[in-house]
Amino acid sequence: MRYSQYLLPTLKETPADAEIISHQLMMRGGMIRKVAAGIYSYLPFGLRSLRKMEQIIREEMDKAGAIECLMPMANPAELWQESGRWEKYGKELLRFKDRKSADFCMGPTHEEVITDIVRNTVNSYRQLPLNLYQIQTKFRDEIRPRFGLMRGREFIMKDAYSFDMEDAGADSSYAKMFQAYRNIFNRCGLNFRSVEADSGTIGGNFSHEFMVLAESGEDGIVSCDSCDYAANVEKAELVYAELETPVATQELQQVDTPGQKSIAEVATFLQLSPQQLVKTLIVQTAEDEVLAVLLRGDRELNDIKLANLLDTDWVVMAEDDVVKEVTGAPTGFAGPIGLQVKVVADSEIKAMADFVVGANGVDSHYRGANLERDFSASQFADIRQAEAGDSCPRCEAGKFESWRGIEVGHIFKLGTKYSEALNATVLDDQGKSKPLVMGCYGIGVGRTVAAAIEQNHDENGMVLPMPLAPFQVLVTMLNPKDDEVREAAETLYQQLLDLNIEVLLDDRNERPGIKFKDGDLIGIPLRVTVGARSLKEGNVELKVRKSGDVSLVAVTDVVTKLQQQVSEALTVVPES
Ligand code: ATP
Ligand code: MG
Repeated sequence: MRYSQYLLPTLKETPADAEIISHQLMMRGGMIRKVAAGIYSYLPFGLRSLRKMEQIIREEMDKAGAIECLMPMANPAELWQESGRWEKYGKELLRFKDRKSADFCMGPTHEEVITDIVRNTVNSYRQLPLNLYQIQTKFRDEIRPRFGLMRGREFIMKDAYSFDMEDAGADSSYAKMFQAYRNIFNRCGLNFRSVEADSGTIGGNFSHEFMVLAESGEDGIVSCDSCDYAANVEKAELVYAELETPVATQELQQVDTPGQKSIAEVATFLQLSPQQLVKTLIVQTAEDEVLAVLLRGDRELNDIKLANLLDTDWVVMAEDDVVKEVTGAPTGFAGPIGLQVKVVADSEIKAMADFVVGANGVDSHYRGANLERDFSASQFADIRQAEAGDSCPRCEAGKFESWRGIEVGHIFKLGTKYSEALNATVLDDQGKSKPLVMGCYGIGVGRTVAAAIEQNHDENGMVLPMPLAPFQVLVTMLNPKDDEVREAAETLYQQLLDLNIEVLLDDRNERPGIKFKDGDLIGIPLRVTVGARSLKEGNVELKVRKSGDVSLVAVTDVVTKLQQQVSEALTVVPES
């Protein structure tokens, strides 16, 4: 490809709405352009990376025995009504009517459509197991689309669905996908972790997420420093040795805390540490039940654990007027003593005595509060967010380390949730009709490319790993008006093309400074600079974008050298 005839609109300035580095660099590097909130066009340079990602996925899915198909974006409401998700999915599901007033939605995921295909085409156990996948555009009307391709409303996903006769077969389909995912992200050259995850609204029995480690990640993950347990903090379990309640030594005493609302403020004011306080949160469930939740002052509520515990779809913090109604005070002073609603406490509270709680009155707290003596909780459970330093629930010897991660892939064992709802049954070898056991497996194509940039960049631009880079080699012609330079660069360009090396020839009539700046920004892994001075000595300059290493290479050797380096960079190191 010739740069002079290509569309690669690089930007000097960082667009104001691009908060994270991958979004900034994908805009500045001419990969994407925004069309509407969370909706992007993929420009030629960006599309090349996406296509490479898709190809890696395709090869590994095929290798694992999955079969590619393609389903429509527009889904009829009937299928979604059959599964019950037409009502349940919420506002992320973009619903619309066609000209005959029939209801449709844009597919945010395809369990319904695939289950419909399978129930109409598979009727014997002999056709199983089956794993069908597609690489297709999804639409989710995300509440906060942001970070470019990281959280779009329209985005490309690879989604796969496995169908088995038996539970054990479904487990083995799941295990194959787990390995395929590891292969995919390894081949992309990413630093990632597979972690245990909550199965969320898709439902099902168990699931793993694949997380690219990056500070900008929206997910918190913890991993054990001595065994291989790793989990999303949403899911990470906490176990405690037998917790014994210490003996109360203080009387309950009301204290004035003028203007002190937050845990930090109250703790400082009373000269205590946040660990000596218990915070009371008033929350509301999907069914509008209001309850109080107790946590040690320095801990965070894990709303997913709480929702699972209460068997509700979600919990939210109650609005100020509800808090006022329940506690008699504005938000910020709630406490468990004298409350009329159900109280659920984090297990850790059991090990506390003589703590501080809100007194359900403005500027008022209690000191010396104690469980059972002053109030009681109807339930103790693990409802807090795991943190670095917590004990590992698996090996109990290790401690958690914590990381930020970008969820690039997610695999679920679904069980028979959808096959039962849509009546996808198959005759087993005894002639008995049974619902299929399903799994589903997603990868965000654009999100993975963006995550790769989060992990691979420097102050000058992108440093995409070879397997995802739009081009493998950039040949920069320093002065196109110099005949010798032009000829040497053209020859090199042609030789590389003949070897199927993906090469971009910077043949623009621009100053060298601009060419180098753009070269750094777009981050093509290997760069050859052809200039008059080194050419006189029979040399060109070879620069490795990632290390910055520059060397002079004889014109006669450079093609072989490039070929070698490209192939080395594409070689997958097997997992240790
Ligand atoms: P998240 O928790 O980030 O919203 P999710 O759990 O809703 O993601 P899944 O339903 O598991 O996502 O979708 C499978 C994969 O699709 C995700 O692992 C992610 O890589 C990608 N993905 C999901 N939502 C988006 C989005 N809005 N923009 C880009 N990629 C997405
Ligand atoms: Mg997910």
